[in-house]
Amino acid sequence: MRYCSLCKRLSRDGSLFCNHCGRSFNVRLCPRLHENTRDAKVCASCGSIELSTPAPRRSKLFFLASSFALALYVSTLAFLSVAYIATYIKVVFVEQGAALPMLIVGFLLGLLWLALVSFPTRGSTGRGKHTIRK
Ligand SMILES: [Zn+2]
Ligand SMILES: [Zn+2]
Repeated sequence: MRYCSLCKRLSRDGSLFCNHCGRSFNVRLCPRLHENTRDAKVCASCGSIELSTPAPRRSKLFFLASSFALALYVSTLAFLSVAYIATYIKVVFVEQGAALPMLIVGFLLGLLWLALVSFPTRGSTGRGKHTIRK
């Protein structure tokens, strides 16, 4: 699916224009559907000046906020892991305590790391390579 940043709706995969507002996705298309960069004034292939209007970029703030949240998540998780290892050594080896509750906590931490690794690194969804037949 392709996401339109103007009307915030989805169009079918491979769509050249938004189904709802008619904007193109991150490129400007001439009437013959040649693809041009979003700041092009004239079609590079046929010289047409009738280029489509692309939907606006997603705001920089969005990327900033998401990368900040990710950095926060990673540092918190790293801190928790270090604290966990220290506590594990203390409880299991020094105090000869029960290892099972510690293992459960370790398992949960592992799941959090797994969630991070499988975190979808989006951001390049708008520039899928599609060939246009002439
Ligand atoms: Zn739209
Ligand atoms: Zn053209």
